[in-house]
Amino acid sequence: MIDALVAWFEENQRPLPWREDYDPYHVWISEVMLQQTQVETVLPYFERFITKFPTLKSLASAREEEVLQLWAGLGYYRRARNLLSAIRTVADKYEGRIPADYDKLIELPGVGPYMAGAILSIAFNKPFPIVDGNVRRVLSRLNGWTDDNAKAQWDAATKLVSAGTPRSINQSLMELGATVCSFRSPRCLLCPVQKYCLAFKTGMQEQIPPVKKRPATVHLHLFALVQKRGGRYLMKPAEGMWEFPMFSELPPGDWTRIGTCRHTITHHRMDISVYAGTFENSGELEWKVLSAVAVSSLTRKIAEVSGNHRTLVVTT
Ligand code: SF4
Repeated sequence: MIDALVAWFEENQRPLPWREDYDPYHVWISEVMLQQTQVETVLPYFERFITKFPTLKSLASAREEEVLQLWAGLGYYRRARNLLSAIRTVADKYEGRIPADYDKLIELPGVGPYMAGAILSIAFNKPFPIVDGNVRRVLSRLNGWTDDNAKAQWDAATKLVSAGTPRSINQSLMELGATVCSFRSPRCLLCPVQKYCLAFKTGMQEQIPPVKKRPATVHLHLFALVQKRGGRYLMKPAEGMWEFPMFSELPPGDWTRIGTCRHTITHHRMDISVYAGTFENSGELEWKVLSAVAVSSLTRKIAEVSGNHRTLVVTT
């Protein structure tokens, strides 16, 4: 089965920039960006990031705000903070060379078994397993598992990765899950491992893997306050980024409601009422040009609401 899978991968893999030379730094950056994020979304971010920080040392000496600015829009900003912290550790402790050693990698911020396995197998071609959502689905279907047993999945991935070239095996499982063995409507007729697949044989593709129960959606209603002067906004620092002041209740004051926007993060759905007005700067707020600082996509949405409103401009 491995031969068929790897041959298919060699023929059909997407040409991705981190696959050009398997530079460990590139592989690491790509894997961090790809957590919870589609390849198509990651590609332009990866290109910009590598252009700005072409080497591990250049990233290690970057300011956190610069990194977050390039990350803005990808979400899950803790990934970027952990990455920067881990890269600085590698620069200090390992002279800028990413260690090809599980025990050393796993100690770095943001590096868990998946990330360590990805770096070791894809960058260094070492036989370490990886199980992400795609691999979990492929392995479960191949083996006909109707339950969701993480240990069985990691054991199966460990066995497979030792049966050939680790880099190719892990990537072929991930690629098959991403492009053929999709969650809905897997394209079994094009699948290189169809004859080994128990889910296909039993027609159970739709039931495997079992759908994980999602937490109930939490609805939040927030109030964002926008004050603009010239091209600058009065903004609040938020862990290396900048955002509009937001409250769960509209503070007393002379506000004009200028619109609404909606934003969803995992199972939190936020409805934001955007208000313009003049408010006191308690000291922590600063005037910022939006394009010059790191902002989340939520902050960008609020700015768009304010930008589309004729009466927004508020002067003090
Ligand atoms: Fe997935 Fe279908 Fe291939 Fe089985 S035969 S691994 S269900 S695409």
